[in-house]
Amino acid sequence: MIVIKSKYEIETMRQAGRIVAQTLDALRRIVKPGVTTYELDQLAQTIITKNGAKPTFKGYRGFPASICASINCEVVHGIPSKKRVLNEGDIISIDVGATLKGLVGDAAITLPVGRVSERAQRLMETTKGALWAAIAQCRAANYLEAISGTIQDHAESRGYSVVRDYVGHGVGRQMHEDPQIPNYRQGKRGPQLKPGMTLALEPMINEGVAETRVLRDKWTVVTKDGKLSAHFEHTVVITDGEPDILTLL
Ligand code: MG
Repeated sequence: MIVIKSKYEIETMRQAGRIVAQTLDALRRIVKPGVTTYELDQLAQTIITKNGAKPTFKGYRGFPASICASINCEVVHGIPSKKRVLNEGDIISIDVGATLKGLVGDAAITLPVGRVSERAQRLMETTKGALWAAIAQCRAANYLEAISGTIQDHAESRGYSVVRDYVGHGVGRQMHEDPQIPNYRQGKRGPQLKPGMTLALEPMINEGVAETRVLRDKWTVVTKDGKLSAHFEHTVVITDGEPDILTLL
């Protein structure tokens, strides 16, 4: 069942989303060679809690940190660690969730560490472009497949593959609500979008094959071929008109 949010719930999610955006903005400023993903996690936790929110991911199914930090071939769910030092030329995907008054904001970005290769840059731009193309489809009366198909076309037409093992999702009082939002077509149009639906769109796009595997830490998802992956996410509310993005500064 897809929950339609009240005005109060949407405005609270916007506050949570703004905290997420502030956190990502602060992390973007400190990402550079030599920084550990543990330091990123600590800063995120400080910003989220100072704003009266809780890091949504911490403790979720036992996840041990406040953010997910996934480097290069890591797709999602990387665990921050003092041992993971960023190197020049890496790309790092950072996923942040904040829960405020029981409501969740969820967003992710992939960032370059120092100077990165042309191909890393192009992958990040394509993934971000896929997210924005998908956001443009977040209109009442569209069907969910418009979002999925747009992401797939955007990625595949540029020679990339779309991760199928993980998907976007409804978000609100739970981090993961209905509907699931695959980043590829499923051969059915899916539910119709209606005002008050809140969706976390999150294309995960791979340079090589779509397949992934999970490392022995039981969390970190990596590409099967070891090639790069990028991830961008926003929380969006369907309205009577333009899509309303809740995870902006
Ligand atoms: Mg998400």
